[in-house]
Amino acid sequence: MNYDDNNIFAKILNGKIPCNKIYEDNFVLSFYDINPQKKIHALVIPKGKYIDLDDFSLNASPEEMVGLIKGINKVAKKLNVSTDLGRGYRVLSNISDHGGQEVPHLHFHLFGGEKIGRMVE
Ligand code: 5GP
Repeated sequence: MNYDDNNIFAKILNGKIPCNKIYEDNFVLSFYDINPQKKIHALVIPKGKYIDLDDFSLNASPEEMVGLIKGINKVAKKLNVSTDLGRGYRVLSNISDHGGQEVPHLHFHLFGGEKIGRMVE
């Protein structure tokens, strides 16, 4: 499967579609999910064109990998849910068909602001 340049997050990254931005740096963009499932529901996406975590693991540079992981922590801090500022949160990434992935650009859901509950329904 090739990366689809017309996926919705690609359009958010190139500014064709607006988002409610939380944080941005050279490696990641974070914004609120349009259909929040919890009190806080953010998305963190790498700026590079990666379909999912498998693609990212195989093809991203070490700098991109560090940037993404650190980016998640920066977003958690900004939202006051990191372990030093708040009460924790959950990060989740859906991968392909069985994972339930809808948008084919790697993204991490960040849920917080309340008890997140069961890990898998
Ligand atoms: P997935 O099922 O691929 O892991 O999650 C995709 C997420 O993207 C869903 O939670 C959905 O609500 C969110 N989403 C889809 N389209 C848009 C959009 O245009 N803007 C924002 N902010 N979120 C979106």
